[in-house]
Amino acid sequence: MYVKVAIDLALDRLFTYEVPVELCKEVKVGQLLRVPFGHRDARGFALEVRAEACAPGADYKIKPILGIADPAPFFSPEMLKLVRWISEYTCSPIESCLKAAVPAAVLKPNARPKELLFVEPCDGDAQQLTAYQKELLENIRRVGGGWMQPLCREFSTTPATLRALAAKGAVAIAPRAQRRDPLAGRSVLPSRPLALNEMQRAALERIVGADHPVLLHGVTGSGKTEVYLQAIARELEGGRGAIVLVPEISLTPQTVRRFAGRFGDRVAVLHSALSDGERYDEWHRIRTGEARVVVGPRSAVFAPVKDLGLIVVDEEHDTSYKQEETPRYNARDVAVMRGAFEGCRVVLGSATPSLETWLNAQQGKYALAAMSARVAGHPMPEVHLVNLEEEAEAYASAPIFSKFLLDAIAERMRRGEQTILFLNRRGYSRVLECKECGCVMTCPNCSVAYTYHSADSCLRCHVCGGWTPPPISCPDCGAHDFSYTGVGTQRAEQALRKCFPHARILRMDADSTSRKNSHDDLLSKFRAREADILIGTQMIAKGLDFPNVTLVGVLNADASRNMPDFRAAERTFQLIAQVSGRAGRAEKPGEVFIQTFHPDDPVILAAADAAFDRFAAAELQDRKAAGLPPYTKFATALFRARDGTVALRWADLYAKSLARYPGLAVSEAVPPALERAEGWFRYQVQIRAAAAKRIAAAWRWIAQARPVPKDVRATLDIDAINVL
Ligand code: ADP
Ligand code: ZN
Repeated sequence: MYVKVAIDLALDRLFTYEVPVELCKEVKVGQLLRVPFGHRDARGFALEVRAEACAPGADYKIKPILGIADPAPFFSPEMLKLVRWISEYTCSPIESCLKAAVPAAVLKPNARPKELLFVEPCDGDAQQLTAYQKELLENIRRVGGGWMQPLCREFSTTPATLRALAAKGAVAIAPRAQRRDPLAGRSVLPSRPLALNEMQRAALERIVGADHPVLLHGVTGSGKTEVYLQAIARELEGGRGAIVLVPEISLTPQTVRRFAGRFGDRVAVLHSALSDGERYDEWHRIRTGEARVVVGPRSAVFAPVKDLGLIVVDEEHDTSYKQEETPRYNARDVAVMRGAFEGCRVVLGSATPSLETWLNAQQGKYALAAMSARVAGHPMPEVHLVNLEEEAEAYASAPIFSKFLLDAIAERMRRGEQTILFLNRRGYSRVLECKECGCVMTCPNCSVAYTYHSADSCLRCHVCGGWTPPPISCPDCGAHDFSYTGVGTQRAEQALRKCFPHARILRMDADSTSRKNSHDDLLSKFRAREADILIGTQMIAKGLDFPNVTLVGVLNADASRNMPDFRAAERTFQLIAQVSGRAGRAEKPGEVFIQTFHPDDPVILAAADAAFDRFAAAELQDRKAAGLPPYTKFATALFRARDGTVALRWADLYAKSLARYPGLAVSEAVPPALERAEGWFRYQVQIRAAAAKRIAAAWRWIAQARPVPKDVRATLDIDAINVL
């Protein structure tokens, strides 16, 4: 018997090994095997088992495997099929895809759960106990036993005393695997299913009855989560499991609590902040079937749930579902494929679906369930557009906060209600500019302007993380006068404090949340009404549900509208609709102020009206006319080298060759908005075709015919989302 193994070295090929007779019965597809590789021992996944070696050792001798690292397969045959599909579709080495699908922590041999001593009271009466021992035993019985160390601390005793109790048969002491529970110490209140309204019930029936993926298009606050919960409950009743994908940013304790509150211990949580031990334990609880519902970000789409019945992709339009490193998969699309391979239901939910998903629903590839109103008759918020042009005329320069917005905030302060302010930039202000010659301080390694951070008075590069103190004089003209242009969250916060000296203000951006849990802490504070105003970046745009927030302000809607990205309109619509969705989610009605220099822009107008259908119809028409997604498949190829001319030469050569491949529309090689990053020069080629397969085939052809030299990095990103 022979086995084809993918070895963890990113070689993008499978190696054939022989299986010794005594292991023939044990070796299974999907297992992790130990194999000899060169002079080393290596580990690799068994991908195929066959009776014959298909290409008997032409250039190498077939060696036998050394053993089986773990008898339980890490991949089911369906999961292997899925991993292979990702490898094909994204043009990525199979090993990188296998790696993406199993957390590294699970493969580390030392991540196994620690065994600690557990003290358990025995039944029946123990003989000859001293008064002190009797009292101790009673205490241990009362708490139902526990881990040795904490127990000693709690009852002010020693391990020796407990061992003496054990010797008399009063308690049993034995090592036990301690589960590292990411939810430990968090209070989770059990919740019961709510009585669904008419629209929710119709949506649930559509989901349960569908044999296609379902797009659940529900406005913010329409109760999508309750529909997911009840759809999952049905799967559990049928003995099946479920996966819920949420954007990493909205994987807050609040979200987790909603699922844990309904399904208790049957919920496993996977997210990036878990320790290796927690991840190992959660993954194994899923694999053994102890946990039936998995909540996590994009990588949770690979969770080894037994008898998977349903995958929910919440906020399916969210860009965090796209992995921005090899393999560059989109978890939403992987969910749809997994659903097809495993015959399980898939629900894609959003108030602002991606146009890719929307078109699929329009064309009948997906079923559509729509929920067009908020629950319990709560109205959508009233949206006002504020013309910054007029404000600028009235005040000589455009203010960060218009008078309308300030009045509205003051009103909330009076009423004891809360405000969320959204600004799509972090840092004190974006750039440091010489007043004399207008030159902007820029990172020497990356072609981006430095951002000034007032907390430690330094200039930081948001690409490479490099920093420098602000210069004393302009490096170009020697002048000493600088101005800080643009507005970041820190500067907005300061301006706000001037306007409202008594307001309690929280700021949330990448700088204020770099500590572990700081994200959660900030939100808990805001929820507990320990602050009046929350000001932040896109972090606060999604998924938050604060009943006391009745005002939302978008400080500058044009920042995303003017991005050099064909999805700028879509992003702007999503952003405005999502932040607006944070206002007035409970009894009190909400109000939204959107500040813009272009109050007559149809995209901003549609967003203000929450008119998704209108926006989508117009935008689809434009995309169709321009031959852009979702009507075509779009990919970018990026060429990087330390030497700019070398990067350009290869980008150019690939662009010209690919342009000759039938069925592709290929751009010239151009420097992207980010021309240099971390000392690497970058050139980009944009590729479009009717099908992703064609782009992948063309890429394989050129990569084989003209492989790039060692000093050049070439990467293909199919269905690229980040085009800058
Ligand atoms: P969405 O995910 O669509 O933005 P949520 O699921 O967060 O909406 O629901 C918004 C609020 O409405 C939540 O506080 C939720 O508990 C409540 N809710 C949902 N469904 C119902 C219902 N059928 N009856 C009453 N309240 C509901
Ligand atoms: Zn830099």
